[in-house]
Amino acid sequence: MTKITVIGGGITGLTAAYELSKSGFQVTVIEQDENLGGQAGTFRLENALLEKYYHHLFSSDAHIIGLIDELGLRGKLLWLDSRTGVFHKGRIYPFVSPVDLLRFEPLSIADRVRLGLMYLRLRRFKDWHRLEQITARDWVIHHGSRRIYDVLWGPLLRGKFAEAADEVSMTWLWGKISLRGSSRSRDMTREKLGYLAGSFQVIIDALAQAVRDRGGEIWTGVRAKRVLVEGNRVQGLELEPANGSIDAATPVPRAIHCDSVIATVPSHTFLKIVPEIPERYADKLRKVRYQVAICVILELARSLSRIYWLNISEESFPFVGVIEHTNLVPPSEYGGNNVVYVTNYVSPSDPILGLAADEVVRSYLPFLRKINASFEESWIRSYRVYRDESGQPIVVTGYSEEIPSHETPVAGLYLANTTQIYPEDRGTNYSVRLGQDISAIVRSAF
Ligand SMILES: Cc1cc2nc3c(=O)[nH]c(=O)nc-3n(C[C@H](O)[C@H](O)[C@H](O)COP(=O)(O)OP(=O)(O)OC[C@H]3O[C@@H](n4cnc5c(N)ncnc54)[C@H](O)[C@@H]3O)c2cc1C
Repeated sequence: MTKITVIGGGITGLTAAYELSKSGFQVTVIEQDENLGGQAGTFRLENALLEKYYHHLFSSDAHIIGLIDELGLRGKLLWLDSRTGVFHKGRIYPFVSPVDLLRFEPLSIADRVRLGLMYLRLRRFKDWHRLEQITARDWVIHHGSRRIYDVLWGPLLRGKFAEAADEVSMTWLWGKISLRGSSRSRDMTREKLGYLAGSFQVIIDALAQAVRDRGGEIWTGVRAKRVLVEGNRVQGLELEPANGSIDAATPVPRAIHCDSVIATVPSHTFLKIVPEIPERYADKLRKVRYQVAICVILELARSLSRIYWLNISEESFPFVGVIEHTNLVPPSEYGGNNVVYVTNYVSPSDPILGLAADEVVRSYLPFLRKINASFEESWIRSYRVYRDESGQPIVVTGYSEEIPSHETPVAGLYLANTTQIYPEDRGTNYSVRLGQDISAIVRSAF
């Protein structure tokens, strides 16, 4: 039986393992964390499971919706009313419908009309290649106005990409705007977003179970230390315990031999575990940079606002979005408490990454008070801070030429990670597509 090892038990790795096990391959998944799920992973909050990073689906997310159906989970996929807003100069503006846009006072009437036309144009736009060489900044200023950029998109781009904001391609912004539009009603007055009853852990567990049911193995708490290569062909993997030690009592060996390896790890990890990867490919991997995602989760006694997704259009704020999860899923799911994600993306050298969790939360408090003047620290029942080094690939102009291929120069070794999702922005839907694509490539090699 052909043996395939998948490094990484996130959505991409589990989807690939599921697809290959359906085709009769002997699959082993290696995940360094104790729990599966990667960026879509969860933790226990009260009596429920909750994502470490906010997660929802759009109605256009056909790949993951198809997989949810195939796994028999359709009944768990809920489509819930969502409210989007923008916080600007001390006020929250609802931002879903054309009427909201027309009422958006920070822009002049002429700019509101320009912005509306810009949205319409982008939603109809299909040929993203034509947007690839222009930065989001230049496109918005040229087709909208300087003020639209300064009030709306500039702060968001800088919030998400920091000093790299001015390099970000218009393709990225097009992907964001057209996706968001796809989850709105025909008259654009309402937005529905998808969420799995019981959290995204439901699909992660179902994938893992389906792999095991077909004879696949999944090892957690085990790290791929090095890909074993001989004569430019993959031989297997050297393993190490992520915590503690692999001793004689554990069933996990120090090395595993296999016919192919699919790595679903970030590009910088791939470079570490395959030091002999030829320079031309390594150079491509080095070129794509990531922003670190830093997400504070607050369990609050009271609600912060009525908005689910609040974009912060204020450069002085230390975060770019406030996602009040319990404005999508009712607080009753979490012991009656309100769950709020405060999200930010920073460069790997940002000093905030050196702060302890309580220091991060403390530094956010005055800004939460600006969003809701009655907010008090005593509302906080619990908090957590999660960081992901590879939270957001930086999609610059001409990105399609920078994307490393799935097939690496080492025979039998494949790469599938979020830097290869394009022209759309990374998301679980595209990780499912990635897992399906990579499994088709591996299948065709045998
Ligand atoms: C802040 C944030 C918000 C998001 N919001 C949404 C959303 O609303 N909707 C949506 O659809 N998507 C969202 N996403 C994106 C979505 O979570 C990702 O696209 C998807 O989970 C990526 O899956 P992956 O398997 O490719 O990567 P990962 O989830 O990163 O999985 C890679 C796995 O590899 C493991 N690993 C790494 N190195 C090793 C090693 N040496 N040995 C063994 N294992 C290793 C890691 O522990 C990890 O589990 C969000 C992501 C972030 C960061």
